Formats: sequence, C-alpha cells, structure tokens
Amino acid sequence: MRPDILNPLFTDIRALKGVGPGLAKPLERLGLERVKDVLYHFPNSWTYRKSVSCLDAADVGQNIILTVTVMDHRGGNSPRAPLRIFAADAERNYITLTFFGRNGGWARKQLPVGEKRIISGKLDHYGDELQMVHPDHIVPLDSDSSPGLAEPIYPLSDGLTNKRMGQLAATSLQAVPDLAEWIEPTLLSSRGWSSWSKSINLLHNKDDQDARDRLAYDELFSNQLAMRLIRAAMDKRAAVPICGDGSLVSKLALPFALTGAQQRAIADIEGDLAQSRPMLRLLQGDVGAGKTMVALMALLRGVEAGMQSAMLAPTEILARQHYASLQKLLSGLPINIAILTGREKGSLREATLMGLADGSIHILVGTHAIFQEAVTYKALAVAVIDEQHRFGVSQRLMLSRKGRGVPHLLVMTATPIPRSLALAAYGEMDSSILDELPPGRTPVETRVMSQDRLSELVDGVARHLAAGKQAFWVCPLVEESDKSDLAAAEQRAEQLRLRFGDQVALVHGRMRGPEKDAVMERFVAGETRLLVATTVIEVGVDVPNASLMVIEAADRFGLAQLHQLRGRVGRGSEKSVCILVRSTQIGETARARLALVRETNDGFRIAEEDLKLRGAGELLGTRQSGENPFRVATPEQVRALIGVAADDARLLLDRDGGLDGARGQAARVALYLFERDAGVATLRGG
Ligand code: ADP
Ligand code: MG
Repeated sequence: MRPDILNPLFTDIRALKGVGPGLAKPLERLGLERVKDVLYHFPNSWTYRKSVSCLDAADVGQNIILTVTVMDHRGGNSPRAPLRIFAADAERNYITLTFFGRNGGWARKQLPVGEKRIISGKLDHYGDELQMVHPDHIVPLDSDSSPGLAEPIYPLSDGLTNKRMGQLAATSLQAVPDLAEWIEPTLLSSRGWSSWSKSINLLHNKDDQDARDRLAYDELFSNQLAMRLIRAAMDKRAAVPICGDGSLVSKLALPFALTGAQQRAIADIEGDLAQSRPMLRLLQGDVGAGKTMVALMALLRGVEAGMQSAMLAPTEILARQHYASLQKLLSGLPINIAILTGREKGSLREATLMGLADGSIHILVGTHAIFQEAVTYKALAVAVIDEQHRFGVSQRLMLSRKGRGVPHLLVMTATPIPRSLALAAYGEMDSSILDELPPGRTPVETRVMSQDRLSELVDGVARHLAAGKQAFWVCPLVEESDKSDLAAAEQRAEQLRLRFGDQVALVHGRMRGPEKDAVMERFVAGETRLLVATTVIEVGVDVPNASLMVIEAADRFGLAQLHQLRGRVGRGSEKSVCILVRSTQIGETARARLALVRETNDGFRIAEEDLKLRGAGELLGTRQSGENPFRVATPEQVRALIGVAADDARLLLDRDGGLDGARGQAARVALYLFERDAGVATLRGG
C-alpha cells in the first residue's frame, strides 16, 4: 500500500480550493491530475523584472515594476482605437498604458483616475512617448499579490493562464510533506543537493539547476531501484539451466563460416544459459552483422534441452521474414516451427496454441501476440527479442510469467544502445557486440542530394531499373496518424508510376497486414521493382536485389533511423547506393547531421549523435509505445546521472540494509512517489 505520507500528493487536483470544472479540461490536456503532477509541472522559463522608483531608472526593453498615479483615460471606444491610459511616476515622468482589443472596460476599472497602482510589464516606446502595452500586473499598493522580481512561466494549455497555474502551484506546495531522505548521504552532500521538499519548493520559486538535478535523480534512482528489485525477484524464481547436447546444432548445415564476433557472442550466450540465473543479455550488432544466426543458436539450445524457444519481432513483415529464413535454415532438422501474429486466426491459431501448450511446437516466431495472456507454453526456455527498442519492462514481466522458471532472455538491437539508455530500459544487463561484419560486404555508398535535383535523381533511378535491379524509395511518415504524409507518399508513387508504370509499388503503415504482405511479397519476388514506402520497411526486410535506396526529406529522420534504413540495401554482394534527399533550405545542424551519416558507417557513433539531438525516448522508441520511462529527467540528466543512480541503488540493496533499513524505508516512499509499479509489485510479492 502507498505510504500515508504520500496521500496529499496523490489527491485529485479537482479537490483543491478554487479548481472548478472550467479548469478540468486544460489541466487534463497537460496531464495534470493530481497534486504531485502539478508539483512536477515546473516553470520552463522565468520573467525577470527590475523594480524602479522612476522611469529614468529604466531602459526601453526592460521588464519593470513601477508605482504610478493614473492621470487620464483616452480612446478605447471603437475596436480600432486602443484604450490609452496616461500615468505618471513619482517624478512626474509620463507613461502610456495601452490596451488593444476588448478588455478596455476591465483596464478602466483596474486603473481609476487619481489612484496609485503598482504595474509591471515591458517598457516600450511609441514615438517619443514611453509606453507599456498590456501590463502583466496591475495591483493596488496594499495588494499581497504584487509582481515578483522573478516570475515563473509555466507550460500552459488553452483556458489556463500563467497566473492561475502559479496559484495552483502555490496551493499544491502547501501539501508538500517532509519526506525522509533516500539519497545516500555522502552523495547528497558532495552534490550539495537540498532535501526533496526543499528542492520542489525551490523550483517553483527560482531557476535552480541543483534542485532540478536532485529531482531528476530521484526519478532515476527509483527507476534503477525498481529494475534491481525486478531482477532480484526474477533471479529468485530462477531459470532452468540449459546445456544443449549439440544434437541439433551439429546437424545445422550453414552456407558459411561464423565470424569471430558471432562465435564470441554464441559462447557468451551458452555460458549464460548454463546458469540458473536467468540470462538477460543485449546483443548489439549493426544491420547485416548476422544477429539472426546468433539468435538461432540460442533458440536451438533451448530445443536441445527438450524445451521451447520463442522469437519476437517488432512487425508483422519482419516476423514473417524471420519465420521464412528460420524454416529454410532448419529444413531437414526434426524441429517444428510455427508463427503467431495478430493475423493467425480461427482454427490455425487454435492449432498453434495447442501445439505450444502440449510442447509439439519447438520454436515460435511472431509479434507481440506470442506473449499474450492466452498463449501458454509447455516449457518456454529461451526468448529472443529482435529490435529491443520496441520492447519495455512491462512486456518483459509478461514474458517472465510464461516459463517454467523465468525464461532466458536475449535482446537484439541494430541501433546501438548507449549504456545509459540500456540501464534505464533494463537495469544492469550483460552485453555482447558483433563488431565484425561477415566477409565480402561492400559498404553502402551514401550521397546527399538537394530536393531541387529530383528529376536528375529520377533519371538515375531509371538507369538502375533498366539494368534489371530494384530500388526502395522512402517517404517520411512522421506519425502513424499523419494523413498528409501518407498523401505525400501516395502522390510520389503516382508520379513515379507515370514514368515507370507497373514497376512501382506502394506500401505504407496504414495498410492492413495481408495487403501489406502481398505488396512486399511481389517486391521480394521481383514482380515490382521500385518500392515506394513509408518507414514500415525500417526494420529488417531483406531484398538482396535492391541495391539503391532513395530517402526523401532525409533531414526529417533520426540519424539512427537513416542508418537502419540504409542497412536495407547492401545485402547482396553488389555495391549499393543510398541517396539522402534533403530539403532545399536546411540549417547548419541538419546539414552536419546528414554529413555524419554520409561519412560514417559506424552505427555507434550515429546513435550517440542521435541521443544528443533527440533524447532517450526517441531512440528507445518508447515515446511511441507510451512507455517513456522518465517524466522529470532530461536526456542530459539521464546520461549524467543514471550511472550514479545505478550505483546508489546497488549500494542500498547490497550494503545499506536493503529496503528494511532506515534509508530503505525512505526509498520505498520514492518508489511509490514515482509509481514504479513493477518494482512496487515485487515489494508486495515479499
Ligand atoms: P542482422 O544482424 O541485420 O539481423 P542478419 O542476421 O539478417 O543480420 O544477416 C544478414 C545476412 O548475412 C544474412 O543474409 C545472413 O545469411 C548473412 N550472414 C550471417 N552470418 C554470416 C556469416 N558468418 N558469413 C556470411 N554471411 C552471413
Ligand atoms: Mg535482423
């Protein structure tokens, strides 16, 4: 149960004084539901003001606070004539307060002739006169809400003013309890951080980097603590140690020799599988490095041990491709392999589910469907997840309920995951890297070309197709729901059809599965030769005869994404070309980023750069899946602090008495505060 001390923070904000139904919608749009959400809704900028006793002491352009006497009202009677209110400072210097639009009546009331008022706003001039347009504060001298020297500016939504937001924050701050400290004391003092409650207060009253870091750290710390707890709970349940007898692996007739890197990764995996501690290993290898072979070895070891293995792919198309290539590699072996996606329905699906339950299916390939509730395995030993960045902690937990013990888990990614991100998404995990491409590959030649040379480019494509080869033409689809992007892809396909006729095919993310597969199958079979696609082809599709890729509006893609896309060509022995078409007007940074992709084939470098530019959620793909692990910490903070948080969490659990010691009790509160449900669930479990 959530500790009582946190209850005020989890109170619905609609229960606060003065929060009427009118505010409900705007607050909801900002994701603010509870007091704690408001507390963590920090100002994103500040207005700094100078308090002056007379206008001589201020410069035009400055934000000032000034006491004035109201002299006269003029205008404001028609929509085109603004209301102008003349006022004087203590030295009888004049200033005009100007109000456009319809709030003249309100301004007249606030500024009665002959009265003194404190005003604030930006000092401006109009001709020779000093003026202030729409002062942001107008208050009587004895007001207790005088404008401050620094005013927080909050992220807002329609129907919510900054002033109202500031009041909500102030009210919420009154509910802040003193929480016992969960951060390791030496760390706290060496960083010079304040307590949690003080830091929260600070951030609503001034811009304070230390307070910001502390609160971000809290989030990272609870994330790391939760990860460790989950891991510990899984370790406790144990996995079945697997020592394959080689009966299957030895029968495998591979058309090539494994690379040294593949052999090393396989050895790492076999070492893990032999333990009762469940494997949690990340296999990183650039596109084309041969991850599938490594996965196959892991899958086979599970089957050799008399159990089952499963492989999860992020998309339907990729699942089918894996299924097909595994079937080919395993033909002749006494292995029953099946596929399960959202599309297998009816009796076919039933048969697969039965086969999984009675153990007659040895290897299952599929999409997320393979870990759904209804799917029961007789004895799942090894799970491989291809393209980890679509897979989060909750799915991992789901998976852990599928085995006899906890299944051994291998996660594969072509987008290298910097350690900080791997930590955030998985906690401490082991890692193997395929840093060696199979021999005989020629690197893809990458060129950058401006959009206004499109017709030249199309001529190039014509020559390529005339030589009997195939090509991809990628159009950006920034969001799955973005109709106009889809329209752009459709339009491009139409244009290309005018020139290339039936050779052109179109595939996009809004197509239904069977339709999409039909298009892909015809392209793979060479029946169509130019595939116009939105980024659905991003992961995995293998068409060796396609040796040219055009990426339109390349500046709109993430770098890692470009690198992935580019990996789709260069699969055959032939030299491949990737053309990044950039918008005509792009900035220096965008130019430099494209140049980086052109210059290097090093996926790690590209991913690092992407991380700097776009943040963790983007790279992990968690933004789309709604599982972005962090609300408070920025990507920079994740990078700078997550390692420290991991160490601190380890220290707490291994040395400082775990969750039952004094600091541990405080840390429990942090877990609940950050709703690390999965970690919290392990607490409940014992
Ligand atoms: P990725 O790491 O991108 O998943 P794949 O596993 O799809 O790469 O392998 C890419 C291609 O390289 C496949 O056609 C595969 O058959 C081939 N391949 C894998 N390992 C080797 C190897 N050791 N020698 C030669 N070709 C290999
Ligand atoms: Mg692959």
